[in-house]
Amino acid sequence: MPTSDVVFTGGPIFTGAGHPLQRHAVAISAGRITAVVPESEIGSHVGESTRVIDLDGALLAPGFQDAHVHPVGAGVELLQCNLTEATDAASAVAAVHACAAANPEEPWILGGGWSMDHFPGGAPPRGLLDAVVPDRPVLLHSRDHHSAWANTAAMEAAGIDASTPDPADGRIEREADGSPAGTFHEGAMELFGAVRPETTAELAYRGLLRAQGELLSLGITGWQDALIGSAAGIADPLSAYARAIDEGTLLARVVGAQWWERASGIEQVEEFVARRDELTARGDDRLRLGTVKIMVDGVAENHTAAMLTPYRDGHGHDTHNCGMSFVDPARLREFVTALDAAGMQVHFHALGDRAVREALDALAAARDANGPTDGRHHLAHLQVVDESDVPRFAELGAIANIQALWAAHETQLDELTLPFLREGAELRHYPFGDFVRADVRLAGGSDWPVSSADPMDAIHVAVNRGYPGSDAPPLGGAHQRIDLATAMAAYTSGTAYVNHRDDETGSIRPGFLADLVVLDPDPFSLPTDEIHRSTVVSTWIDGTLVHSLHPDPVLELS
Ligand SMILES: [Zn+2]
Repeated sequence: MPTSDVVFTGGPIFTGAGHPLQRHAVAISAGRITAVVPESEIGSHVGESTRVIDLDGALLAPGFQDAHVHPVGAGVELLQCNLTEATDAASAVAAVHACAAANPEEPWILGGGWSMDHFPGGAPPRGLLDAVVPDRPVLLHSRDHHSAWANTAAMEAAGIDASTPDPADGRIEREADGSPAGTFHEGAMELFGAVRPETTAELAYRGLLRAQGELLSLGITGWQDALIGSAAGIADPLSAYARAIDEGTLLARVVGAQWWERASGIEQVEEFVARRDELTARGDDRLRLGTVKIMVDGVAENHTAAMLTPYRDGHGHDTHNCGMSFVDPARLREFVTALDAAGMQVHFHALGDRAVREALDALAAARDANGPTDGRHHLAHLQVVDESDVPRFAELGAIANIQALWAAHETQLDELTLPFLREGAELRHYPFGDFVRADVRLAGGSDWPVSSADPMDAIHVAVNRGYPGSDAPPLGGAHQRIDLATAMAAYTSGTAYVNHRDDETGSIRPGFLADLVVLDPDPFSLPTDEIHRSTVVSTWIDGTLVHSLHPDPVLELS
């Protein structure tokens, strides 16, 4: 028997589902897993040149895969004016001031990462920016990318004033006299589209590599990029990926979700298919483009998520606003049916219970027209899901793409969202437990840079329904908790399934690619309220070490 390149031994092995194997070892040759055997049998796989890695009780798991992430935007944000570290309005403004001072030649100050809960009503005013940057345009998106904060110079550059109407798919916050107040929601951000400088191809490429480094350090070896195309002034990440493939710098395995342009129609389907097939013909499998991303609605914080019941005002009374359906439901059914027939996967952004229903209705229409397909369509975010819609996921083969980190009580949810939703809406929030009981497949994602990309933090919340150290009650009730093995599966084999890469990634099995992560302490050995303490020691792709916590990562036993 030829000996292996690498052998992992001395720790439990999470294979991608169920409870970890004990006293087993994993052998790797030429980038693939060649054996998963009892430790007593591993000797025959070890030769002179085999690198034997003693896990010393740490857990070996398939590399994490993120089912919904925006790496290029996140990386660019890290390289631009980055407000994600700000803890309140004052520190956000101070960070903008520092960016402007450090970049006197930049015609616009761009960046983002501000947090809605640092500002009254979630809407930062232009005056705060005017005070520190009066002479140059400033445009900064919110952490969730559904709103933008501008100073007066930016509005003047874009010709926006009191006479500018709200666009159909967005809203301008206004002062008493109708002047724009400084915050622009959803489609209103596009009012800056013509004047805002585009992200250069060079910056997008550097952003991708910066983000990849960050994701590898979190044990993430593959992902679904939730926005390929040009939208909201974000540069199309496709050219950055193409360059990374050409230069051999793309290490992770990626599926790109091509952006459904809401102003266009069904003619896009042909373009999506052409772009997918063109890439496949190039023969590099690191990036695939067989997915289309459709925004069904907005977000709950600014009352653009589509709900079955009206939002309430600050006094608890019903308003006439049920949020927005960005795509007319009848047209959505038509578009999804066409995409499904063309062999494309649909990745829905669906937050409110009405958006979830409209997406499922569209999948039902596609099923009626096309019969069952291998589309593996998925709905991301799923903030509020009506009980009657939960079993429909399994019936339609739809996957729940969860951002588990959001399933906890925190300020933005408790102060900006829950008071404005109908009585009892909290109980329908992120119903992961209901999904599992209804045999719905789960895939895990982060939506980074909207929130942290760290899968172990998300898995901690999936299991606890609360943040580490928090004494808040579990969001939606204890029955919405899921167990650790189920949560780990969502972020490994679950996302591999969504990405149509479950035939060779997401599990530790002979023949599979050796994309792996080592976690210490083993999360299965920890009390559930300490799962977050488990961190990444090393990350491997194709059996090669791509990230290591320690300069000398491994104990060589041989
Ligand atoms: Zn997203």
